[in-house]
Amino acid sequence: MDLKSNHSSPVLTDSAPLSKLRLGLPSNMSPYSPAASPYSSSGLYLTIPRIINGKLEDVRVNGWLDAMIASSPPRKKLSKDIIYESQTDDHDAAYQTWMISYPSALNSFHLITSYAKCKTVALFLDYDGTLSPIVENPDHAFMSSAMRAVVKEAAIYFPTAIISGRSRDKVHEFVRISELYYAGSHGMDIMGPVRVSNSIDVHPDCIKTIDSQGKEVHLFQPANEFLPMINEVYKSLIEVTSDIIGIKVENNKFCVSVHYRNVDNKMWDEVGVRVFGLINGYSRLHVTYGRKVLEVRPVIDWNKGKAVEFLLESLGLSQRDDVLPIYVGDDRTDEDAFKILRESKCGFGILVSNAPKETTSAFYSLRDPSEVQEFLKSLVRWRKSTALQTENIASEYI
Ligand SMILES: [Mg+2]
Repeated sequence: MDLKSNHSSPVLTDSAPLSKLRLGLPSNMSPYSPAASPYSSSGLYLTIPRIINGKLEDVRVNGWLDAMIASSPPRKKLSKDIIYESQTDDHDAAYQTWMISYPSALNSFHLITSYAKCKTVALFLDYDGTLSPIVENPDHAFMSSAMRAVVKEAAIYFPTAIISGRSRDKVHEFVRISELYYAGSHGMDIMGPVRVSNSIDVHPDCIKTIDSQGKEVHLFQPANEFLPMINEVYKSLIEVTSDIIGIKVENNKFCVSVHYRNVDNKMWDEVGVRVFGLINGYSRLHVTYGRKVLEVRPVIDWNKGKAVEFLLESLGLSQRDDVLPIYVGDDRTDEDAFKILRESKCGFGILVSNAPKETTSAFYSLRDPSEVQEFLKSLVRWRKSTALQTENIASEYI
Protein backbone atom coordinates (compact mmCIF):
# COMPACT_ATOMS: atom_id res chain seq x y z
CA MET A 1 0.00 0.00 0.00
CA ASP A 2 1.24 3.44 -0.75
CA LEU A 3 -0.40 6.70 0.23
CA LYS A 4 0.13 9.76 -1.91
CA SER A 5 -1.44 13.15 -1.47
CA ASN A 6 -3.24 14.72 -4.37
CA HIS A 7 -3.84 17.79 -2.20
CA SER A 8 -7.41 16.75 -1.68
CA SER A 9 -7.05 13.32 -0.17
CA PRO A 10 -4.46 10.56 0.11
CA VAL A 11 -4.39 7.97 -2.65
CA LEU A 12 -3.27 4.36 -2.33
CA THR A 13 -0.72 2.90 -4.71
CA ASP A 14 1.88 0.16 -4.20
CA SER A 15 3.09 -1.20 -0.90
CA ALA A 16 6.46 -0.39 0.64
CA PRO A 17 6.74 -1.91 4.10
CA LEU A 18 8.94 -0.31 6.72
CA SER A 19 12.46 -1.60 6.39
CA LYS A 20 14.30 -3.05 9.34
CA LEU A 21 17.40 -1.18 8.19
CA ARG A 22 15.60 2.14 8.50
CA LEU A 23 15.50 1.65 12.25
CA GLY A 24 19.20 2.42 12.07
CA LEU A 25 19.61 1.24 15.62
CA PRO A 26 23.28 0.33 15.76
CA SER A 27 24.72 2.97 13.44
CA ASN A 28 22.69 6.09 14.18
CA MET A 29 22.29 5.94 17.90
CA SER A 30 25.54 7.53 18.89
CA PRO A 31 25.13 10.91 20.57
CA TYR A 32 28.13 11.96 18.49
CA SER A 33 26.55 11.01 15.20
CA PRO A 34 26.69 13.86 12.65
CA ALA A 35 23.10 12.97 11.72
CA ALA A 36 22.11 13.87 15.25
CA SER A 37 23.43 17.42 15.09
CA PRO A 38 21.13 20.09 16.51
CA TYR A 39 22.31 22.46 13.81
CA SER A 40 19.61 21.20 11.53
CA SER A 41 18.92 22.83 8.21
CA SER A 42 15.27 21.81 8.59
CA GLY A 43 14.71 24.76 10.88
CA LEU A 44 13.16 22.59 13.57
CA TYR A 45 15.96 23.38 15.94
CA LEU A 46 17.50 26.77 16.34
CA THR A 47 21.22 27.22 16.76
CA ILE A 48 22.18 27.78 20.35
CA PRO A 49 22.76 31.48 20.91
CA ARG A 50 26.13 32.77 22.07
CA ILE A 51 26.74 35.51 24.56
CA ILE A 52 28.72 38.31 22.90
CA ASN A 53 30.14 41.06 25.13
CA GLY A 54 27.76 40.07 27.88
CA LYS A 55 24.70 40.25 25.59
CA LEU A 56 22.90 37.58 23.63
CA GLU A 57 23.03 38.14 19.91
CA ASP A 58 19.78 39.92 18.91
CA VAL A 59 19.06 38.01 15.72
CA ARG A 60 19.16 34.73 17.57
CA VAL A 61 17.06 36.07 20.42
CA ASN A 62 14.44 37.02 17.83
CA GLY A 63 14.86 33.55 16.31
CA TRP A 64 13.92 31.68 19.45
CA LEU A 65 11.28 34.19 20.50
CA ASP A 66 9.68 33.92 17.05
CA ALA A 67 9.77 30.13 17.32
CA MET A 68 8.23 30.23 20.81
CA ILE A 69 5.42 32.48 19.58
CA ALA A 70 4.87 30.47 16.39
CA SER A 71 4.63 27.23 18.39
CA SER A 72 2.17 28.78 20.81
CA PRO A 73 -0.84 30.29 19.02
CA PRO A 74 -3.24 32.30 21.21
CA ARG A 75 -5.88 30.29 23.00
CA LYS A 76 -9.21 30.93 24.59
CA LYS A 77 -10.58 29.29 27.67
CA LEU A 78 -13.63 27.13 27.01
CA SER A 79 -14.48 25.82 30.43
CA LYS A 80 -12.74 25.53 33.76
CA ASP A 81 -9.08 25.29 32.87
CA ILE A 82 -9.50 23.73 29.40
CA ILE A 83 -8.06 25.88 26.65
CA TYR A 84 -8.18 25.81 22.86
CA GLU A 85 -6.65 27.85 20.12
CA SER A 86 -8.76 30.94 19.56
CA GLN A 87 -10.84 31.24 16.42
CA THR A 88 -12.23 34.16 14.45
CA ASP A 89 -14.35 34.10 11.29
CA ASP A 90 -11.21 34.72 9.21
CA HIS A 91 -9.47 31.98 11.09
CA ASP A 92 -12.33 29.56 10.44
CA ALA A 93 -12.29 30.38 6.71
CA ALA A 94 -8.54 29.74 6.68
CA TYR A 95 -9.13 26.44 8.50
CA GLN A 96 -11.73 25.35 5.95
CA THR A 97 -9.26 26.10 3.15
CA TRP A 98 -6.52 24.22 4.98
CA MET A 99 -8.81 21.22 5.37
CA ILE A 100 -8.95 20.82 1.61
CA SER A 101 -5.35 19.60 1.86
CA TYR A 102 -5.78 17.87 5.22
CA PRO A 103 -9.34 16.55 5.25
CA SER A 104 -11.14 15.53 8.39
CA ALA A 105 -10.46 11.89 9.29
CA LEU A 106 -14.14 11.67 10.28
CA ASN A 107 -15.38 12.91 6.91
CA SER A 108 -12.86 10.64 5.17
CA PHE A 109 -13.69 7.66 7.32
CA HIS A 110 -14.96 5.47 4.47
CA LEU A 111 -11.78 6.13 2.50
CA ILE A 112 -9.61 5.31 5.53
CA THR A 113 -11.45 2.05 6.21
CA SER A 114 -11.15 1.11 2.55
CA TYR A 115 -7.35 1.28 3.02
CA ALA A 116 -7.65 -0.66 6.28
CA LYS A 117 -9.75 -3.49 4.87
CA CYS A 118 -8.16 -6.90 5.55
CA LYS A 119 -5.21 -5.21 7.26
CA THR A 120 -3.93 -5.03 10.81
CA VAL A 121 -4.43 -1.45 11.93
CA ALA A 122 -1.74 -0.33 14.42
CA LEU A 123 -2.67 2.73 16.45
CA PHE A 124 -0.11 5.20 17.77
CA LEU A 125 -1.55 7.93 19.95
CA ASP A 126 0.01 11.04 21.43
CA TYR A 127 -1.39 11.99 24.84
CA ASP A 128 -1.54 15.75 25.61
CA GLY A 129 -3.87 17.60 23.26
CA THR A 130 -4.81 14.30 21.56
CA LEU A 131 -6.39 12.10 24.24
CA SER A 132 -6.57 14.82 26.87
CA PRO A 133 -7.38 18.51 26.52
CA ILE A 134 -4.60 21.08 26.87
CA VAL A 135 -4.97 22.56 30.34
CA GLU A 136 -3.37 25.41 32.27
CA ASN A 137 -1.64 23.03 34.66
CA PRO A 138 0.14 20.12 32.88
CA ASP A 139 -0.31 17.98 36.01
CA HIS A 140 -4.08 18.19 35.47
CA ALA A 141 -4.14 16.89 31.88
CA PHE A 142 -6.55 14.08 32.69
CA MET A 143 -8.32 12.05 30.02
CA SER A 144 -12.06 11.60 30.37
CA SER A 145 -13.47 8.24 31.41
CA ALA A 146 -15.29 8.11 28.05
CA MET A 147 -11.97 8.54 26.22
CA ARG A 148 -10.34 5.90 28.45
CA ALA A 149 -13.15 3.46 27.64
CA VAL A 150 -12.82 3.96 23.88
CA VAL A 151 -9.00 3.65 23.94
CA LYS A 152 -9.30 0.49 26.04
CA GLU A 153 -11.74 -0.98 23.53
CA ALA A 154 -9.58 0.08 20.60
CA ALA A 155 -6.67 -1.86 22.15
CA ILE A 156 -8.78 -5.03 21.97
CA TYR A 157 -9.04 -4.75 18.19
CA PHE A 158 -5.81 -2.96 17.25
CA PRO A 159 -2.26 -3.04 18.64
CA THR A 160 -2.20 0.35 20.35
CA ALA A 161 0.66 2.43 21.75
CA ILE A 162 0.83 5.78 23.49
CA ILE A 163 3.80 7.90 22.43
CA SER A 164 4.24 10.98 24.60
CA GLY A 165 6.77 13.61 25.53
CA ARG A 166 5.95 12.93 29.17
CA SER A 167 7.87 10.39 31.20
CA ARG A 168 6.59 6.87 30.60
CA ASP A 169 5.51 6.49 34.22
CA LYS A 170 3.59 9.76 34.17
CA VAL A 171 1.71 9.04 30.96
CA HIS A 172 0.89 5.56 32.27
CA GLU A 173 -0.51 7.16 35.45
CA PHE A 174 -2.76 9.36 33.31
CA VAL A 175 -3.94 6.63 30.93
CA ARG A 176 -4.10 3.64 33.30
CA ILE A 177 -4.76 1.01 30.63
CA SER A 178 -2.57 -2.08 30.93
CA GLU A 179 -3.35 -3.40 27.43
CA LEU A 180 -1.37 -0.62 25.74
CA TYR A 181 2.30 -0.14 24.94
CA TYR A 182 3.88 3.03 26.27
CA ALA A 183 6.68 5.19 24.92
CA GLY A 184 7.63 8.17 27.08
CA SER A 185 10.16 10.99 26.71
CA HIS A 186 9.39 11.37 22.97
CA GLY A 187 10.06 7.68 22.38
CA MET A 188 13.32 7.55 24.35
CA ASP A 189 11.75 5.23 26.94
CA ILE A 190 9.77 2.42 25.37
CA MET A 191 8.17 -0.56 27.04
CA GLY A 192 6.98 -2.92 24.34
CA PRO A 193 6.29 -6.56 23.68
CA VAL A 194 9.00 -9.18 23.44
CA ARG A 195 9.22 -10.43 19.87
CA VAL A 196 11.87 -12.21 17.92
CA SER A 197 13.71 -9.48 16.12
CA ASN A 198 17.45 -9.46 15.44
CA SER A 199 17.77 -5.69 15.10
CA ILE A 200 16.10 -5.14 18.47
CA ASP A 201 17.55 -7.97 20.52
CA VAL A 202 21.14 -7.09 19.73
CA HIS A 203 20.84 -3.44 20.71
CA PRO A 204 22.67 -2.76 23.97
CA ASP A 205 20.01 -0.30 25.18
CA CYS A 206 17.22 -2.87 24.81
CA ILE A 207 16.74 -5.25 27.69
CA LYS A 208 14.14 -7.83 28.64
CA THR A 209 12.37 -7.11 31.89
CA ILE A 210 9.09 -7.77 33.71
CA ASP A 211 6.31 -5.17 33.77
CA SER A 212 3.90 -4.40 36.64
CA GLN A 213 1.53 -7.12 35.36
CA GLY A 214 4.30 -9.74 35.53
CA LYS A 215 4.60 -9.91 31.73
CA GLU A 216 7.99 -10.17 30.04
CA VAL A 217 8.60 -6.99 28.04
CA HIS A 218 11.30 -5.16 26.13
CA LEU A 219 12.57 -1.97 27.71
CA PHE A 220 14.35 0.27 25.26
CA GLN A 221 16.09 3.41 26.53
CA PRO A 222 18.45 4.71 23.84
CA ALA A 223 19.35 7.82 25.84
CA ASN A 224 20.24 5.96 29.03
CA GLU A 225 23.68 7.49 29.30
CA PHE A 226 22.13 10.98 29.42
CA LEU A 227 20.20 10.37 32.65
CA PRO A 228 22.71 12.02 35.04
CA MET A 229 23.05 15.01 32.69
CA ILE A 230 19.27 15.40 32.38
CA ASN A 231 18.84 15.30 36.16
CA GLU A 232 21.54 17.92 36.57
CA VAL A 233 19.96 20.18 33.95
CA TYR A 234 16.51 19.71 35.51
CA LYS A 235 17.79 20.99 38.87
CA SER A 236 19.68 23.88 37.23
CA LEU A 237 16.62 24.91 35.18
CA ILE A 238 14.48 25.03 38.32
CA GLU A 239 17.12 27.21 39.92
CA VAL A 240 17.66 29.65 37.03
CA THR A 241 13.93 30.12 36.37
CA SER A 242 12.72 30.22 39.99
CA ASP A 243 11.90 33.95 39.88
CA ILE A 244 9.74 33.72 36.70
CA ILE A 245 6.12 33.66 37.77
CA GLY A 246 4.04 30.87 36.22
CA ILE A 247 6.93 28.80 34.88
CA LYS A 248 6.88 25.04 35.37
CA VAL A 249 9.89 22.81 34.87
CA GLU A 250 9.00 19.14 34.42
CA ASN A 251 11.41 16.21 34.57
CA ASN A 252 10.33 13.75 31.89
CA LYS A 253 13.19 11.35 32.60
CA PHE A 254 15.07 11.63 29.30
CA CYS A 255 14.06 15.21 28.58
CA VAL A 256 13.12 18.30 30.56
CA SER A 257 10.09 20.40 29.66
CA VAL A 258 9.93 24.09 30.52
CA HIS A 259 6.26 25.09 30.33
CA TYR A 260 5.64 28.81 29.87
CA ARG A 261 1.90 28.73 29.15
CA ASN A 262 1.23 30.51 32.46
CA VAL A 263 4.05 33.01 32.05
CA ASP A 264 3.21 36.59 31.02
CA ASN A 265 4.15 36.83 27.34
CA LYS A 266 6.29 39.88 28.10
CA MET A 267 8.54 37.47 29.96
CA TRP A 268 8.82 34.85 27.20
CA ASP A 269 12.11 36.28 25.94
CA GLU A 270 13.45 36.00 29.48
CA VAL A 271 12.42 32.33 29.52
CA GLY A 272 14.39 31.84 26.31
CA VAL A 273 17.42 33.71 27.69
CA ARG A 274 17.51 31.54 30.81
CA VAL A 275 16.91 28.20 29.05
CA PHE A 276 19.20 28.72 26.06
CA GLY A 277 21.78 30.44 28.29
CA LEU A 278 22.00 27.27 30.38
CA ILE A 279 21.81 24.74 27.56
CA ASN A 280 24.57 26.60 25.75
CA GLY A 281 26.95 24.89 28.17
CA TYR A 282 25.79 21.41 27.11
CA SER A 283 26.85 20.51 23.60
CA ARG A 284 25.09 17.11 23.86
CA LEU A 285 21.69 18.64 24.60
CA HIS A 286 19.42 20.71 22.39
CA VAL A 287 16.10 22.54 22.67
CA THR A 288 12.94 21.89 20.68
CA TYR A 289 9.65 23.81 20.64
CA GLY A 290 6.20 22.64 21.55
CA ARG A 291 2.97 24.40 22.48
CA LYS A 292 4.12 26.90 25.09
CA VAL A 293 6.87 24.56 26.10
CA LEU A 294 10.61 24.39 25.48
CA GLU A 295 11.98 20.89 25.65
CA VAL A 296 15.57 20.06 26.46
CA ARG A 297 16.53 16.78 24.84
CA PRO A 298 19.64 14.69 24.27
CA VAL A 299 21.30 15.08 20.89
CA ILE A 300 20.58 11.61 19.54
CA ASP A 301 19.00 10.49 16.33
CA TRP A 302 15.84 9.32 18.03
CA ASN A 303 12.32 10.71 18.04
CA LYS A 304 8.66 9.69 17.94
CA GLY A 305 9.06 8.51 14.34
CA LYS A 306 11.87 6.15 15.30
CA ALA A 307 9.73 4.98 18.22
CA VAL A 308 6.93 4.06 15.77
CA GLU A 309 9.38 2.05 13.68
CA PHE A 310 10.74 0.36 16.79
CA LEU A 311 7.27 -0.58 18.03
CA LEU A 312 6.19 -1.88 14.63
CA GLU A 313 9.31 -4.02 14.62
CA SER A 314 8.65 -5.21 18.20
CA LEU A 315 5.06 -6.05 17.33
CA GLY A 316 6.17 -8.07 14.32
CA LEU A 317 4.33 -5.64 12.04
CA SER A 318 7.19 -4.24 9.96
CA GLN A 319 8.17 -5.79 6.62
CA ARG A 320 4.50 -6.51 5.98
CA ASP A 321 2.13 -5.01 3.45
CA ASP A 322 -1.01 -6.01 5.36
CA VAL A 323 -0.43 -3.47 8.12
CA LEU A 324 -1.81 0.05 8.32
CA PRO A 325 -0.18 2.20 11.02
CA ILE A 326 -2.15 5.30 12.00
CA TYR A 327 -0.54 7.98 14.16
CA VAL A 328 -2.69 10.64 15.85
CA GLY A 329 -0.98 13.66 17.42
CA ASP A 330 -1.22 17.40 17.85
CA ASP A 331 2.30 18.61 18.36
CA ARG A 332 5.36 19.55 16.40
CA THR A 333 7.21 16.54 17.85
CA ASP A 334 4.55 14.28 16.27
CA GLU A 335 5.70 15.45 12.85
CA ASP A 336 8.64 12.99 13.01
CA ALA A 337 6.12 10.15 13.18
CA PHE A 338 3.90 11.66 10.45
CA LYS A 339 6.98 11.99 8.25
CA ILE A 340 8.12 8.38 8.81
CA LEU A 341 4.67 7.09 7.80
CA ARG A 342 4.39 9.42 4.80
CA GLU A 343 7.88 8.54 3.53
CA SER A 344 7.50 4.81 4.12
CA LYS A 345 4.13 4.98 2.32
CA CYS A 346 2.68 2.39 4.65
CA GLY A 347 0.36 4.44 6.84
CA PHE A 348 -0.63 7.98 7.71
CA GLY A 349 -0.71 10.65 10.34
CA ILE A 350 -3.73 12.52 11.63
CA LEU A 351 -2.98 16.00 12.95
CA VAL A 352 -5.16 17.19 15.82
CA SER A 353 -5.60 20.91 15.40
CA ASN A 354 -8.41 23.42 15.20
CA ALA A 355 -6.11 25.91 13.52
CA PRO A 356 -4.39 25.62 10.13
CA LYS A 357 -0.75 24.56 10.44
CA GLU A 358 1.77 25.90 7.97
CA THR A 359 3.52 22.60 7.40
CA THR A 360 2.63 19.08 8.39
CA SER A 361 3.37 15.61 7.07
CA ALA A 362 0.00 14.34 8.28
CA PHE A 363 -2.59 13.25 5.71
CA TYR A 364 -5.74 13.97 7.70
CA SER A 365 -6.91 16.19 10.54
CA LEU A 366 -9.19 16.14 13.53
CA ARG A 367 -10.18 19.28 15.41
CA ASP A 368 -9.75 18.26 19.03
CA PRO A 369 -9.72 15.31 21.47
CA SER A 370 -13.50 14.93 21.22
CA GLU A 371 -13.12 14.25 17.48
CA VAL A 372 -10.26 11.83 18.26
CA GLN A 373 -12.64 9.98 20.57
CA GLU A 374 -15.30 9.88 17.84
CA PHE A 375 -12.75 8.63 15.30
CA LEU A 376 -11.52 5.83 17.60
CA LYS A 377 -15.10 4.87 18.41
CA SER A 378 -15.93 4.69 14.69
CA LEU A 379 -12.83 2.61 14.03
CA VAL A 380 -13.83 0.07 16.71
CA ARG A 381 -17.43 -0.02 15.38
CA TRP A 382 -16.12 -0.59 11.85
CA ARG A 383 -13.75 -3.39 12.94
CA LYS A 384 -16.52 -5.10 14.90
CA SER A 385 -18.86 -4.95 11.92
CA THR A 386 -16.27 -6.34 9.51
CA ALA A 387 -15.46 -9.16 11.98
CA LEU A 388 -19.18 -9.95 12.16
CA GLN A 389 -19.49 -9.97 8.36
CA THR A 390 -16.52 -12.36 8.11
CA GLU A 391 -18.12 -14.67 10.69
CA ASN A 392 -21.44 -14.60 8.82
CA ILE A 393 -19.78 -15.40 5.51
CA ALA A 394 -17.80 -18.23 7.14
CA SER A 395 -20.93 -19.67 8.77
CA GLU A 396 -22.66 -19.89 5.35
CA TYR A 397 -20.02 -22.44 4.29
CA ILE A 398 -20.24 -24.62 7.41
MG1 LIG B 1 0.50 16.45 22.25
